[in-house]
Amino acid sequence: MVPARPSVLHSMQLRMAMGYGLVIAVLLVLLNTYPLLMTQNLMFRSQQTALENQAALVVNSLTTADELTAETLEQAIAPLDELDADRILVTDEAGLVLYDTGEAPAVGKYILTGDVVSALRGNDAFSSRFIGGAFQSRASAPVMTRGTVVGAVCLWQRDEGQGLLLGEIQRNLRLVSLVVGLVVLTIFAIFSTRLTSRVSTLLGGIRTVRAGEYTHRVSVTGHDELAQLADEFNQLTGRLQATEEERRRFVSDASHELKTPLASIRLMTDTILQDEAIDRETTREFVADIGESADRLIHISQELLALNRLDEARTSPRERVDVNARAEQTCRMLAPLAREAGVTVENDLGEDCVACCDPEDVSQIFRNLMENAIKYNVPGGAVTVSTRRAEDHVLLEVADTGMGIPAEDRERIFQRFYRVDKARSRAAGGTGLGLSIVQDTVRLHGGTIDVRPREGGGTVFSVSLPAWREEGTP
Ligand code: ADP
Repeated sequence: MVPARPSVLHSMQLRMAMGYGLVIAVLLVLLNTYPLLMTQNLMFRSQQTALENQAALVVNSLTTADELTAETLEQAIAPLDELDADRILVTDEAGLVLYDTGEAPAVGKYILTGDVVSALRGNDAFSSRFIGGAFQSRASAPVMTRGTVVGAVCLWQRDEGQGLLLGEIQRNLRLVSLVVGLVVLTIFAIFSTRLTSRVSTLLGGIRTVRAGEYTHRVSVTGHDELAQLADEFNQLTGRLQATEEERRRFVSDASHELKTPLASIRLMTDTILQDEAIDRETTREFVADIGESADRLIHISQELLALNRLDEARTSPRERVDVNARAEQTCRMLAPLAREAGVTVENDLGEDCVACCDPEDVSQIFRNLMENAIKYNVPGGAVTVSTRRAEDHVLLEVADTGMGIPAEDRERIFQRFYRVDKARSRAAGGTGLGLSIVQDTVRLHGGTIDVRPREGGGTVFSVSLPAWREEGTP
C-alpha cells in the first residue's frame, strides 16, 4: 500500500514552524516584560528613597518646634532647600491640615487617607503608581515629640522624567524584539526549507527504489544525521540491488540448467516416436539416456530444495558431533570414487575435534568438499582431510593436488550454479550448487569457510565450526 503523503497540517515544516514560533513568542514576551518590570521596580525604589528622605527631613525640622501651628511650620519648612516635592502637607495629631503647599490648599480640613492615618499611628507609608506616563508617588511619616505622635507629614511627587525613560526603554525593547523576531524567522525559513528539501530528496529516492529502480542512489549533502540516513539507505539499496541481481541470475541459471536435460528428453522421445523402424536395442539405449536426464533433473531439484531449506532455516539442531568419525566415514564412502579417479585419500585427524553442530550437516560438508577434491583432481593426485581443535572452534581442511582454482574465480565459486570449468563439472555430474550448500550450511551453524591455493598446486578448503562445550565449561 502506498503511504499517503503528509498533509500540510501534518508536514514537518509546519510543526517545526509552530514549535519554534511558540518558543520565540514566549521569549519575546519575556524580553518585553521582564526588563520593563525590573526597571519599573528600580525606579519605584529610587522614588521611595528620595521621597522618604525628604519626609524625614521635614519631620526632623519639626522636632524642635514646641507647637505645630501654621507659623511654626512655615518657619521650619520654608528654609529647607533640598525639598523638591510637588506638595507638602502637615496635619496635627487629629488629621487637621495645618500646612499645605498644594495648588488648592486643604488647610483647616481634615484629611484621613490611609497613609495619613498610618502615619498618625506612628508608621511610615509610601505608595507609587505609574499613570499617564508618569510616576505619582506619595510618602507619609509621623511627627513625634517626646515619644508621642503630634502630627503627620505627607509629600506628593509626580515624576515625568522617569516615565519618559521607561517609555523609551519600552519602545527600544519592541524594536529589538521585532528585529530579533524577523532575524529568527528568516534563519528558520532558510534552515527549514533546506531541511525539507533534503528530506524530500530522501523520500523521492525511497519512492523510486520502492518502484523497483534499484540502481537509484540518493545524494544528500552534509554530514548530519540526514546525510547518514541517506548513506545507510544507499547501502541498503545496494544490498537490495545485489539480492535482486542474484535472484535474476539464479532464475536464469536454474532455467538454463533444467532446460538442457529437458531438451534432451524431448529430443529422444521425439526420435523414438517418429522413427517407426527403430529397433528394440536402440529404444532401450534412448530410454536409458532419458532415465539419466531424469536423474540429473532429480539431482538438481534435490539440491535446490536443500538450498531452499537452508534459506528458510533460522536455527538447526545442535549436537555433540565427533568430527573425526564423520571424516573417516566419508572417506570410506568416497573410496570407490577416489579409486576410479586414481586419487589417494589421506587422513590427518587431530584430537578433541568435537563440534556443536548437526551430524548430518558435518557429513554433507565433508562429502561435498571431498567429492570436489576428487572430481577436480588429476590422476595420481592426492586428497588430504585434516581436522584440528582450536580454542572455541574445530577446523576442518580438505586439500587436493588438483587443477586449482584461478584467483579471479575463487570469490565466485560459492555462488549458485557458478562453475569454473562447466564441461568438466557437467561430465562429473556436478550442478554448480555443491559449494553454495556447503557455505549456507556452515553459516547456519555460525561457522566460516575459506578457500586458498595449496602450495605446490591444488586447492585447500578450510571450514571452521563452533566447538562443543560441556555444560559448565566456560
Ligand atoms: P559442482 O557441482 O560443479 O562441483 P560446486 O559448487 O561444488 O559445483 O563447485 C563449483 C565450482 O568450483 C566447480 O564447478 C569447480 O569448477 C570449482 N571447484 C570446486 N572445488 C574445486 C576443487 N577442489 N578444485 C578445483 N575446482 C574446484
